[in-house]
Amino acid sequence: MNRADYLALIDSYGGHFALREFEIQGGIDRMDPAFMRSVLAWRQWTGLPTMITSAWRDEDPRTHGKGMAIDCLLFTRWKTEQASPIRHWLLGTTWPFMGVGLYFDWSYFSRTQNQRIPAIGLHLDGWNGDIPGQRPLRWLRIGGQYYYQNLSTGMFYCRANGQTTTLAKAISQHGEEHEQFSQTT
Ligand SMILES: [Zn+2]
Repeated sequence: MNRADYLALIDSYGGHFALREFEIQGGIDRMDPAFMRSVLAWRQWTGLPTMITSAWRDEDPRTHGKGMAIDCLLFTRWKTEQASPIRHWLLGTTWPFMGVGLYFDWSYFSRTQNQRIPAIGLHLDGWNGDIPGQRPLRWLRIGGQYYYQNLSTGMFYCRANGQTTTLAKAISQHGEEHEQFSQTT
């Protein structure tokens, strides 16, 4: 596909993005067309303003390197108010993506407030994995640590620190930290 084809694809799903929004580390032609279609249909379905912070990435042999992933933030008021963590999670996991990660430790730079704002980040991908059993996969990232979901218990386990958490606990802890941030700034 060439640029015009990608643009036509974006337009056919409501024209919610400019090409350059996907061109963070490389041209739009790095993006897998089938994954692009899925993301665009998803954006149309969620109806939420979506900031893409990463798309194709160099030196990534997996999802981003194959043009089959984006990282994004969902807003209820553009660049002012984010959708809740649970809404990010539900919108990401209800859609048939192969990989969904919810990041509690993100931030983005707000020009209007001239500071970095703590944020909820969402990784979405359409990668099938390169060994059986690798996908689908769901995870959380908290304080830089990855917690992968166990499909027997629904709990999230971090191999690095040996700890287990739940989505509800992670959301509750994030809420408390966010509250502290609001009070100190
Ligand atoms: Zn990602």
